[in-house]
Amino acid sequence: MNIAVVGTGYVGLVTGACFAEFGVNVMGVDKDEAKIAMLRKGRVPFFEPGLEELVGRNMREGRLSFTSDVKAAVEKSLVVIIAVGTPQGADGAADLSFVREVALSVARHMNGYKVVVTKSTVPMGTGAMIRTLIAGNQAHPAPFSVASNPEFLREGAAIEDFMRPNRIVIGAEDPQAIAILKDLYNPLYLIETPFVVTDVVSAEMIKYASNAFLATKISFINEMALLCEAVGADVHEVARGMGLDNRIGRKFLHPGPGYGGSCFPKDTLAVLRMAKEKGLPGRLVGAVIEVNDEQIPRMVEKIARAAGGLKGKKLCLLGLAFKPNTSDTRESPAIRIIREIVAAGARVRAYDPAAMDEARQALPGIEYAEDAYDAARGCDALVIATEWNQFRNLDWDRMKAALKAPVVVDLRNVYDPRHMRALGFRYTAVGRPS
Ligand code: NAD
Repeated sequence: MNIAVVGTGYVGLVTGACFAEFGVNVMGVDKDEAKIAMLRKGRVPFFEPGLEELVGRNMREGRLSFTSDVKAAVEKSLVVIIAVGTPQGADGAADLSFVREVALSVARHMNGYKVVVTKSTVPMGTGAMIRTLIAGNQAHPAPFSVASNPEFLREGAAIEDFMRPNRIVIGAEDPQAIAILKDLYNPLYLIETPFVVTDVVSAEMIKYASNAFLATKISFINEMALLCEAVGADVHEVARGMGLDNRIGRKFLHPGPGYGGSCFPKDTLAVLRMAKEKGLPGRLVGAVIEVNDEQIPRMVEKIARAAGGLKGKKLCLLGLAFKPNTSDTRESPAIRIIREIVAAGARVRAYDPAAMDEARQALPGIEYAEDAYDAARGCDALVIATEWNQFRNLDWDRMKAALKAPVVVDLRNVYDPRHMRALGFRYTAVGRPS
């Protein structure tokens, strides 16, 4: 089968490379010519474990190619997967301008039956909008189906998540489109991945409801962490005791600076916006967003307290990506925290194993270090902002020698408070007794 994946970002590139690995012929399409030129050389423009190898192998074996010529890609493909960005618009709703651009290109260039699939996270009703847009703009009338196939991969574990997902969601009304998509995912069918086949609007909503629920777990445990600090309980013990209950589950019960990244912040806002548009209160998701927004100033306050103020202080920040194993700094709590502490008069030395280039563009005014120990040099406090594995086993003797004062603020609760104190550090975590 020939398919086109339009948008070669985190989702589109992983999707294209993984389908190629399944034996499908994939054309990755992007309007960013520089990105396409890079991909054609087998180079991946961001860090995702294993992706460059997967892309390279499938290019060499002739199943994966890249182009900025959307016409050629649409003409050649039975399935066109839309994987472009749906960023937050000015009013909190998802901005669908890239999705519309692709739908119009499909309408202009289709030369026979096509299945047009949204993999981007799109608001409920987008499938219907795409159907109308294509039907009204076809250069040469041809039949087509519109389907929704939301993506649930996590950056940093994207290939594994794509190859072994918990479920595949297909939203389509047309049996031919459902059959084609099932065929595309056949290798996952064979390993007994559950398939949820439903209508388009329910599929679109499954994605938003899932992200809103996961964000709720994070804001919930952050609120509990705050209460733990007030009553002298340890949120680690609380989360473990809760999470062992199968009805609750252990995942997403890690307190910290709040959720970030390119999905949860924009998707929770979009859910709230959609509820309001329908005259619904959206109370719970509104509170989730509010709790999350309060986390950054809370973390800044925690750092200020530990460092004895911010003005004139030099602080070491470890981790800039919004989570480990990615170079993605979009909506990264670390970046937001740095902006606030710099605005309050502190200087920052930062280090991240993969996200330094991206961070330099967002934060040109801070110092970037060679490694974690270099970052700590002469600093009044060390802050762990992202829990990269590299930061889980730091040499604390070396760190103590590098720092001006033995102060550690662990926003990801990586270390054991008693151990850190025994090593002679003034150690602060989130939701744990200090
Ligand atoms: P991204 O910004 O990394 O990539 C989007 C790509 O689309 C860019 O390379 C851009 O140049 C390209 N593009 C935009 N308009 C185009 C057009 N008209 N023609 C061709 N290419 C075009 O975005 P992403 O992180 O991959 O996210 C894509 C979608 O997937 C979003 O809706 C997002 O919410 C959703 N999603 C993301 C993740 C994630 O972890 N990043 C997970 C699940 C779902």
